[in-house]
Amino acid sequence: MISVAIDGPAGAGKSTIAKKVSAELGFIYVDTGAVYRAVALACIESGTEIGNTEAVEALLPSLDISIVFLNGEQHILLGDKDVSDAIRSENVSMATSRVSAIPAVRQFLLDLQRDFAKHDNVIMDGRDIGTVVLPNAQVKIFLTASPEIRAKRRVLQLKEKGIEEDYEKVLYDIIHRDYNDTHRETAPLKAAENAVIVDTSEMTFDEAAQKIMEIIKEHTV
Ligand code: C5P
Repeated sequence: MISVAIDGPAGAGKSTIAKKVSAELGFIYVDTGAVYRAVALACIESGTEIGNTEAVEALLPSLDISIVFLNGEQHILLGDKDVSDAIRSENVSMATSRVSAIPAVRQFLLDLQRDFAKHDNVIMDGRDIGTVVLPNAQVKIFLTASPEIRAKRRVLQLKEKGIEEDYEKVLYDIIHRDYNDTHRETAPLKAAENAVIVDTSEMTFDEAAQKIMEIIKEHTV
């Protein structure tokens, strides 16, 4: 099995690029942020205070989170409810970066993520895929871009979904999320030692996807 780990901050283009490359290679694409988002959504919906670690931990055993693929697209289920769209709001994004700092949450989601790489060739994106989830991945890529470029992309992405967000607010949220993700104690966002670092600030998504294809080919022949 071939595993490709793509880590990096929010808005670097991980999901857009990974989707394109996985479709070309015939690999499964797993967006691991979605499972963390599902935990945050479950906390919000159940009125569980995210700052209360014990309360979040107590909620975990009752959560039934699964990833299914419909026409090649990843969908995330909470129980039998498809929450793929509900997990994308800025509100859930911010809650997710807090909930994902809780070690028990990360442990709870570890096997779910690892299982995908056991039976299929995967491209998995997240924050700790190359460092923690799939440390033996054949290809590790750290995708990044400046916060301003990432905020602009996010605003456009949300607009395409019919959601209007203020650029300054999105930029603030991105910087705040970067800080949370890189400073948490458990599995912080960082490039794996042997990761190839790709800065997409000056690239189109097509150029970045091309670059990723080249890196994957170089590492898997
Ligand atoms: O990738 P996405 O923006 O959907 O991730 C949402 C949040 O989930 C991140 O800001 C991060 O806090 C958390 N996350 C994580 N580890 C991963 C994937 C996402 O901590 N592997």
